[in-house]
Amino acid sequence: MTQTAAIEPQQRISAPTVDVAVIGYGPTGAALAHLLGQLGLSVRVIERNIGVLAIPRAVHLDGESMRILQSMGLASRALSVLRPGANMEWVNATGQTLLVRTSEPGLGPHGWHNDYYFHQPDLERLLRWGVAQLDGVQVDEGWALQQLRQDGDGVALDLTSTDGSATSTLRASYVVGCDGARSTVRGLIAADEFEDLGDHQTWLVVDGLLHHPLKLPEHTVQHCDPARPSTSIYVHPLRRRWELMLMPGEDADAMLVPELVWRLLQRWVKPAQATLERAAAYTFHSLIARRWQQGRVMLAGDAVHQTPPFLGQGLCTGLRDAANLAWKLALAVAEPALAESTLASYGSERLPHARAFVALAVEVGRVIQVIDPAAAAERDTRLQQQGLRFAFPMPALGPGLHRARVHAQAVGRIAPQFELEDGRWSDDVCGPHWSLWLDPSVLANLTPTQLALLHAMALRPLAATTAAQRWLQDQSCGAALLRPDRYVCDIWPNADAMMAGLAQALPEGLPPPWRQRPVPGPT
Ligand SMILES: Cc1cc2nc3c(=O)[nH]c(=O)nc-3n(C[C@H](O)[C@H](O)[C@H](O)COP(=O)(O)OP(=O)(O)OC[C@H]3O[C@@H](n4cnc5c(N)ncnc54)[C@H](O)[C@@H]3O)c2cc1C
Repeated sequence: MTQTAAIEPQQRISAPTVDVAVIGYGPTGAALAHLLGQLGLSVRVIERNIGVLAIPRAVHLDGESMRILQSMGLASRALSVLRPGANMEWVNATGQTLLVRTSEPGLGPHGWHNDYYFHQPDLERLLRWGVAQLDGVQVDEGWALQQLRQDGDGVALDLTSTDGSATSTLRASYVVGCDGARSTVRGLIAADEFEDLGDHQTWLVVDGLLHHPLKLPEHTVQHCDPARPSTSIYVHPLRRRWELMLMPGEDADAMLVPELVWRLLQRWVKPAQATLERAAAYTFHSLIARRWQQGRVMLAGDAVHQTPPFLGQGLCTGLRDAANLAWKLALAVAEPALAESTLASYGSERLPHARAFVALAVEVGRVIQVIDPAAAAERDTRLQQQGLRFAFPMPALGPGLHRARVHAQAVGRIAPQFELEDGRWSDDVCGPHWSLWLDPSVLANLTPTQLALLHAMALRPLAATTAAQRWLQDQSCGAALLRPDRYVCDIWPNADAMMAGLAQALPEGLPPPWRQRPVPGPT
């Protein structure tokens, strides 16, 4: 069982080497620790603070993130703190609707709704509860990483208790810095060079707890008012978030005086109707670190990407980092000879994927952040006439452990989650394993020799029925190999091509699925 806090210096922290040290116990660190623990690795989480950060930050989570929670066995519990929601409305300065974007009703391609709203501390508490259920993961709060040194076998970490009264050391085979935007780990591996996508705008962020539900829109509204662009977010009936752009010449601290904050909120709520939970100024950035790894040390979450909040994707992107990295670290620990190429694929795959979300958030932000009245009028006309043309991205990974090619669009992208004939969901059937989905006609015609070969590779062929079969047909293929993170590794038209592909010499260090460490079944 996980232990938390109350470290006795030099006794607990100096314990033997662990497989992975995770620095930072925010949502990225908690998700990664959970996934690694599920895969049977020994994990030590080092967190500077004690307890969940109470400050509300993320309010939106996407369907792919829900799928990652599902893989941790947390999705059903998560539904108690998440509210599905979809529509977004853009209105002009007078409140007239310019555009409404509606999501598809029902479940999206991930088998979950496309959008959920929540209070970040609630989700973080759930993630920590999940970690606490796992043997092999130990959490040490109240300790900060100060220094690390890599050698051929692992990494030595120097730690200091947050109150400064004690120091200690730890050894780990691998280290992942999930330590946020001001990452210590990033500095220690000299990875502080970023691609800057150019958005650095300060916004006032106000969270209000309503005394009673109010007659306000039950969806997010983007107020395209050049006098003060702002966003009103319906989190749940008694919780609202307002984001208000800081205008040129305004001083953020001066604007955060309660009387001024209430004045800014007057179009939505009055002091008698709500309590202000907090008001803060954030300068949102749009940055992607150019390097995500040095040797045995990797970075994940806000430590490597920071996005403006217009798509609600910062936390979601960190969860995707964790899902991409966890199975690769498990492989690296089990198969040291494959470690270098496997782990190198983490940054090469994730960087362009994360960049696509940051770039789109910047684009969406440009729509609302217009403060010139003439440009705003032109924008309003454009929005009314043409709409806002963006598709929620499902980008391909960058080069890595998949065989992406021009005529196979699905390869390198996440596969949908399928509902099977017996009512189960495909991710639950796959568990944390590689999975091979076959059209029933391909499956029925596999020869005993082919079946024996698949068995030897520890690949259990799965019959793709209904939705899965339709998806295979849409890709013009009869077989698809999915990685443990549900991204498509390769597709083939038929059994012969599949067997040849699976048996072929492995290019670019592609790790053979059958050499992965045995892992427990789905939770
Ligand atoms: C106003 C606002 C709105 C947002 N809205 C959304 C949204 O709707 N959807 C969304 O997906 N995202 C949103 N985000 C982004 C989201 O909150 C972050 O992306 C997410 O919290 C990042 O998680 P993380 O675990 O990577 O980093 P963090 O949450 O920052 O956690 C890092 C942890 O590392 C610890 N740490 C740091 N240094 C050390 C050290 N040296 N040693 C030990 N521990 C250390 C810190 O104490 C901290 O606990 C929003 C952010 C803000 C500010």
